[in-house]
This record gives sequence, C-alpha cells and structure tokens, in this order.
Amino acid sequence: MNSVTEGKVLEVICPATGEVIATIDETPIEEVEKMYENAREAFLSWSALSIKQRIGYLVKLREYMVDHMDEISETVSKDTGKVKVEALIADVMTTLDAISHIEKHAEKVLSPQRVATPILLFGKKSYIEYMPRGVVLVISPWNYPLQLSMVPMISALIGGNTVILKPSEVTPLVGKCIEELFEKAGFPKHVVQVAHGGKELGAALTSKKPDYIFFTGSVRTGKIIQAQAAKDLIPTTLELGGKDPAIVFADANLARAAKGVVWGAFTNSGQVCMSSERLYVEVAVYHEFISLLKEEVANLKQGTSHDDDIGSMTFPGQLTIIEQQLKSAISEGASLVTGEDPKHWETKKGWFIPPTIITNVTNEMEIVQEESFGPILPVIPFETEDEAIRLANDSVYGLNASVWSLDIAKARRVASKLVSGNVVVNDVMVTVGNHGLPFGGTKQSGVGRYHGEQGLRIFCHEKAIMVDNGNSTTEIQWYPYKNKYNLFLNLFKGLFGKKKDWKMVSKYYLKLKKMDKKS
Ligand code: ADP
Repeated sequence: MNSVTEGKVLEVICPATGEVIATIDETPIEEVEKMYENAREAFLSWSALSIKQRIGYLVKLREYMVDHMDEISETVSKDTGKVKVEALIADVMTTLDAISHIEKHAEKVLSPQRVATPILLFGKKSYIEYMPRGVVLVISPWNYPLQLSMVPMISALIGGNTVILKPSEVTPLVGKCIEELFEKAGFPKHVVQVAHGGKELGAALTSKKPDYIFFTGSVRTGKIIQAQAAKDLIPTTLELGGKDPAIVFADANLARAAKGVVWGAFTNSGQVCMSSERLYVEVAVYHEFISLLKEEVANLKQGTSHDDDIGSMTFPGQLTIIEQQLKSAISEGASLVTGEDPKHWETKKGWFIPPTIITNVTNEMEIVQEESFGPILPVIPFETEDEAIRLANDSVYGLNASVWSLDIAKARRVASKLVSGNVVVNDVMVTVGNHGLPFGGTKQSGVGRYHGEQGLRIFCHEKAIMVDNGNSTTEIQWYPYKNKYNLFLNLFKGLFGKKKDWKMVSKYYLKLKKMDKKS
C-alpha cells in the first residue's frame, strides 16, 4: 500500500486497487525525545532480565503470530499489493523462522564465551561478555515490511536492548500491525515503540543519538543515515540495494534454471534487493533459454487473488523509475521479449507492471547497472566462464547472485569469484532463508551482516574480560625493568622462534618470576 502524508495523518492506499483503505495517525516529531526517554527507562528492567526470560516473550510473540497468520498475511498483502502467498511465505514465515532460530540459539550465542589464555598471561582467565548497547533504532522499508522490521527488532531485543521502530510510511498498516503484535504478546511497556511517519521523522530519530541504527532501504538514504551517525560515532548496519546477477551455463538443468530465474526476477514484482536483476546466459543455449523464459512467463497470472502469481507494485515512485529505465533502454535498441512498452501499462486501477524480459542490451546500459526494483529482467549472452564472472562483478552492488550449472565444481568456482554477500548455486535467494547464514552486502549493497550468531552479537558491546586471582604481588612485565631485557629476549626467542623451545621458555619465564619475588 502506498500512503500520502496529509498533516498528521498517513493515508493508506491499497496499491492493487488504488482505494484508500485506512488512515493512521502520525507520530509528532516533538514526541521523539520522549520516546528515547521511555526507551532508556524501559532498558533498565528489560536488560536486567535473563536471556531465558526474554525468550519467554519471543515464544508468546511467535505463538500469537501463528494463531493470527492469516490476518497478518492479509494486512501485508493489502498494504503492499503483493499476493497473499508471498506475504505468508516471505514476510510471516521468515519472521517466525527467525524467532524460532533465536529461541534455540540466543542463550548459547549471548552467554559469556571462554577464550584460551596465552602462556605469557599464565594463570589468568579470559572470556567475552555480550552487553546490550541500549536503545536500537530500526528503520525499515516497504518491500518486506514485516520481515525487515521484525527480524532486526527481535535480534536486538533478545540481547537486552529496547527498540524504536520507524517503519516505512509507504506501508503504515504493517507498522501498526507490528506495534499490536508486540502489545498482544505482552512485551513490557516501552520495550518496543513504533514511530509512524516519513523521512522527517526518521531523520529526527536518527539525530537523537540512538545507541545503534539498523537501516534497511535505499543506498541514497543509507548514506544520509551513515553520515548523521558518524557525527556521534553511532554504529550502524546498512542493508541496501542490489542489482543481482544470475549466470546460466549451457550445462545447467535449463528447465529448472528458467523456472528459478523467472521466480527470482518476478517474485514480489521484483521489489526485492535480492531479486535476479541481470541475466547472463552462455551463448550456446542463449536462444533456447530465452524461449524457455518466454514459456514460463506466459504461464504467470497477475492479480490479487490467492491463486495469482504476481501482485502489484507497492510504491508509485518506483513505477516512474522503471518506466524511465525501460524507455531509455528501448530508445538505445533494447527489445521486449515479454511485457509491454511502458506507454501501454495499465496502472490506473492498481500499479501492475507486466513481467518484462528484454534483450539487445549491453552491460553499460542504465537498466543493467542501476537497481530497477521491479519485474524487469535484461538478458545478455556470454562466451566464457571468465567473461561471465567479469560481467557479473562489473557493478557497484554486490548483494546476491545465482549460478546455474550441473558441473558443481565449476559453479562453486564461479561462486567463490563473485564479489557478493550471498551466492546460490542452482537456486535463487535461499541463503536468506537459512537464518544461520550471515546476510548482508558488499560494495554499495551495504555495511555489516545480520542473521546467525553475528546478527545477535552486533547489538551488543563485545566485552573482553580477563581475571587474575590477585594473589601475586606483581607481574613480570611490570616495573622495575632492571635486568629484565635479556631475559625477555630469550623468553620470546623460545616462544616465537622457528621451533617452540619449551625448555627455554620455562627457564626464562621462571627467572623473570624469580626477579619479581625479589622486587
Ligand atoms: P525505499 O525507497 O526502499 O523506501 P528509503 O531509503 O527511501 O527506501 O526508505 C527506507 C526507510 O528510510 C523508510 O522508513 C523511510 O521513511 C526512511 N527514511 C527516508 N529518508 C530518511 C532520512 N533522511 N533519515 C532517516 N530515515 C529516512
């Protein structure tokens, strides 16, 4: 759904029908300060709970969500225009899966971790503690408005942080829904607060010194937020855009590759940072593969019912970007294999763009270099493995990629050479479905990773602690240094020389210790 800010109200328009379906009160900017005060106060008791106690709240949240899966999917579908099966699988299920993963692993991941102590610090104990940072600001986008808000939120909450969420103003119903989910699950007051509004509110929240900012959205806004955060050295994670390549070799299972690439390009109407946005096909099967793609697209149904495959676009601004990219590609000689020239798009009763495959494009064209965030797939032939890798890496982005070949050794070799945060062989996007794997981008696709162990630890101060029992009066490296230099020289020779010489180590270590006793 799209929304238009009118005074203090967000007007919610269902993008699949163009109808206004709700209004939501905006959070006044003057309330931002109070929200931080509330969050800091709630932090005192929330951070004092054990991880087990906090898991108890996540269990209630998961159970409540499971009981209301259908309503939540309906809200996501209405708000975004995506078909309900995609709302269920990609927003609701992924959130439930993340909660389950965190329930299972959080205690181990966030408990103090013992670390071996080196011989030079003999007798001491070393460990790492994970201390919550404080108030985490999560700013989220409209394409997967539930998942991309809730996964960072619960990852921050479990470590003992309190959270302020600023969901996208384009999908405010989901923002409201998230607020209600945490309330219904019984989270203590102000542990989670949701600020409803647009970029001015986002900017106000960013400037009020949260302890961490987790941002998902465009590269442009990511850079603004990073610049603001730098003023106070606030740590951030930035999950940004992508222009993800799919590489199809002649020895792939072509029927599977065609189905997979079509799904990877057109799911969620292509409004996915991980979607297949450029396709490279080995020249020997280029024409055959284009025919297979055409057949697959011909079977797709666009609409709003349970059985439809592709929903509408979510945000009208995106249509303008895609229209301009397509027009410019066509004027430079690109041909439409499927889809329509933008002048024939039927967008009056909902923002539907037909799944569009284009050929006769070059890697330099805007439509191959710039993120489209829509159901557009440009296709380029290649001749050699090296050429495919070079074309795929020739991008300012590096979030995700897929490689299709039945020669798994070759596919893995190519995967290793792609400058990308994620690569899938003979499938698309599924790395994000394994919560144990890190998620994030290279180059302009982002900074940092979440999911998995690091997804919980980023929201904590990683604290190194060493404990000495305190019985001995001094340490060998403390004052006085008199007569110690040569003893240290020999000790280090024994310890770090070509071959470890334990006799030498113990001899000089004990001599140093003896000197300590004398001093
Ligand atoms: P998208 O085009 O995917 O919505 P944006 O980067 O514009 O990407 O928006 C993502 C999120 O960032 C939204 O919640 C939006 O309100 C918020 N946002 C936009 N501009 C700013 C800003 N200057 N400061 C903080 N948040 C912002």
